[in-house]
Parts: sequence; C-alpha cells; structure tokens
Amino acid sequence: MADSDVLIVGAGIVGLATAIAAHRCGHRVTIVDRHHTPIGASIRNFGMIWPIGQPSGPLLDLAMRSRTIWLELANQAGFFCEQSGSMHLAYREDELRVLEEFIATEGEERRAQLLSPEDVRTQTPGVNPVSLLGGMYSPLELNVESRTAIQKIWDWIAAQPGIELISGFEAAHIAPNRVESSDGRVREGDHIYLTTGSDGVTHYPDCFPSDAFTPCKLQMMRTIPQPGGWKMGTHVAGGWTLRHYDAFADCPSLPQLKERISRELPEFDIHGIHIMLSQHSAGDLVIGDSHVYGDAITPFDDDRINHLILKHAKQLVDAPSWEIDKRWHGIYLKRTDGRSLFVDQPEPGVTIINAMGGAGMTLSFGVADLVIRDPDTAIANFGSRITQSV
Ligand SMILES: Cc1cc2nc3c(=O)[nH]c(=O)nc-3n(C[C@H](O)[C@H](O)[C@H](O)COP(=O)(O)OP(=O)(O)OC[C@H]3O[C@@H](n4cnc5c(N)ncnc54)[C@H](O)[C@@H]3O)c2cc1C
Repeated sequence: MADSDVLIVGAGIVGLATAIAAHRCGHRVTIVDRHHTPIGASIRNFGMIWPIGQPSGPLLDLAMRSRTIWLELANQAGFFCEQSGSMHLAYREDELRVLEEFIATEGEERRAQLLSPEDVRTQTPGVNPVSLLGGMYSPLELNVESRTAIQKIWDWIAAQPGIELISGFEAAHIAPNRVESSDGRVREGDHIYLTTGSDGVTHYPDCFPSDAFTPCKLQMMRTIPQPGGWKMGTHVAGGWTLRHYDAFADCPSLPQLKERISRELPEFDIHGIHIMLSQHSAGDLVIGDSHVYGDAITPFDDDRINHLILKHAKQLVDAPSWEIDKRWHGIYLKRTDGRSLFVDQPEPGVTIINAMGGAGMTLSFGVADLVIRDPDTAIANFGSRITQSV
C-alpha cells in the first residue's frame, strides 16, 4: 500500500490548497517541501484575496469558492484574515469612466458601488483626497497576512490526522506513484500533484515550453507599523491597476486609459508598474508592485522601481509614515497566452497545477477543490490541450 493516496510536491499556497481539498475528500495526504519553512511567492505577496480582478464566469466562481475556504480556514488555523473589501481610486476622468462602465455591467453581480470622493473617504479614510474624482468599493476582497498565514497553515496541516507534512524534502525524481528526494528518501502515493511554483519547470519540461510560460519578478516594500493606530480602511488600488486585471478588459474606455498611461508614464510600461496597498494586522502598509519578465529578470532589485512605486503610492494614500522597514521581491510563473492557470496530467497518476501568475492567493483554494473533485473539467478548462479561452 502506498504511503498516501495523494502525494503533493511543493507546499506553497497551491500545494497547501491541494492538500486541504484532498483531505476534505477523505484522502490520506502527504505534502513535501524542500524548505523547512515557507519562503516562496506565497509569503511574498500582498495577501489580497482579489475576486474583483477576476473576469465573470469560471474564474470569478473559483475566486469566490476560494474566498469561502479562506474564511473557514482562517477560523480553523487561527490566522489574520479580514473582510477588508477594496477601493479602486479614480483621479482622472478616464479612470472614472472605466469604473463607471464596469459598474454598469458588473456592479450588481459583484455588489460593487461607485462612490463620491466624500464616500470614498468614509469607507477608506486613508485615501488621499487631493484631486480625487471618486472610487469603486467592492466588499468581497479579503486581507490575509501571507507571511504569517502560510506558516500557520503549515502548522495546522501538520497537526491534522491523515495529513503528513515533510519539510526539507527536495523532490529530485518524480514518477507515477513515487517521488525520490535528492538525499535518497522515497515516498509513494497513488496520485502525485506537482505544485512547485516558479521552480516547477524542471520536472516534466515538455509541459513547460519556454515560449508558453515566463517567470515574472515583482518588487515590494513594507512600511513600519503606522503610528497612532492609523487605518487605511480597505485595500487600495490606483487607476493604473485597471490595465492589469482581466475583469476590466471589456470596458470600452480601457484602450484610451492604457494609451494615456503609456504616454504619460512610459516607465510604468517598462517596469510593469501599477500601485496597490494593503495594511496588515500590525498596521504596516504593504506596497507594490512591478512586473519584470523572462530574461530581463536579475537577482538584484532596482531602487528606481521602488522610488517610482513609492512616489505614486503617496498620491493614493495619505499615510502618516512612509518609512520602509522591508524590501523584497517575489517570482511567479505565468502563461504567455494570457490565460490564468495551468493544470495538466503529463502522465497517468501525475497532475501539475501551476502558473496562476498574480492570482495564486485568490484562486488556489477554488482551483484545488475543482482539480481534486473534477480533474477532467479542470484540465479541459485550464490545461494546455484546449485553445478556447475560459
Ligand atoms: C510580490 C507578489 C505579490 C503577489 N500578490 C498577490 C496577491 O495579493 N493576491 C494573489 O492572489 N496573488 C498574489 N501573488 C501571486 C501568488 O503569490 C502566487 O500565485 C502564489 O503564491 C504561487 O503559489 P505556489 O504555491 O505556486 O508557489 P510558491 O509559493 O513559490 O510555492 C512553491 C513551493 O514549492 C517548493 N518546491 C519547489 N521545487 C521543489 C522540489 N523539487 N521539491 C520540493 N519542494 C519544491 C518550494 O520550496 C515552494 O515552497 C503575488 C505574487 C508575488 C510574487
């Protein structure tokens, strides 16, 4: 008999979500990670559970399923998870127009509202009111402190009967039913899930042609805890973010907005910058981000990028302190065809789940739930073998 029904390689959010989904279905689960604590993309993000960015249809459904599971799990595993909501701010007419168009078609389904500058400040007191034209409030987004939450999920999982978490296990050889570590340990499982994040392309390289996937590097910063108990309110996103998420892709005024930003801020295009802020439980602001792809990625962070991010973050939020306590970057894997994730079975008994790009925190629980319960639909909708968009 195999050590487990389900053997998962990689304990970032995708692997953890897969472990939880399989365990909830009654499977015996083993999850291994090469590190002794989580250090991948899953602890380096904003912690924004961000349904507002997902287009209506299957992806929004997965995000909403994830949202439910995040709330349940936060309760069980005991980590900070706030129903913060989000505010997209408009300081320019074209930003307001895109938000109006979005609200006209999607507002009701998403319970999102367009607010006046005064109402924006009531909902999100930390917003900078200078030149503010309005904002879109959405109540659905969650705020998770990923650097502590992922470790809490590790600890919680390790304590569950029926789940075994093995840290310090670097999977070197993967075959159906069997994973061998670089130091010769072997674990067996009836079905293997590879959730190895941006490093995952080394296994089954044929599934990851270099023109179909690209790594993406993002620079981030965190302030000291804001003095005097100052609260921003909701997550905050600027008008530049409207270019970034597929949810807004069909807004008729988006092309003009993109053209204007490219003209006024070419450096935003060069470094893939758009500005978002979240505030975590100790009062610190997490600020980002930039997007640098493929061969342009270097191990060294670029201070000019951080300077640009900070300069524009200050236009959105009126925080009492911008003293930066931490700077870092994270890397995720992304598909180059614009689709949102990758699920495939390279051979019987092995499933790859990867390439959620900038939405892994938002989608993972929903995706894992679908993959475990209905792998054929997951592969049909999100695998490499079909070409129609979901
Ligand atoms: C800066 C930044 C900000 C982001 N902000 C958000 C956000 O606010 N909201 C959102 O939804 N998403 C966000 N994302 C995206 C999200 O963080 C990622 O999509 C997600 O974390 C990817 O999870 P993962 O489990 O695939 O990867 P990882 O977290 O990198 O986990 C992969 C794991 O696999 C392990 N591993 C790799 N190879 C092996 C091996 N051979 N053997 C054993 N273990 C192995 C690694 O040690 C690692 O722990 C952001 C990403 C970044 C980088």
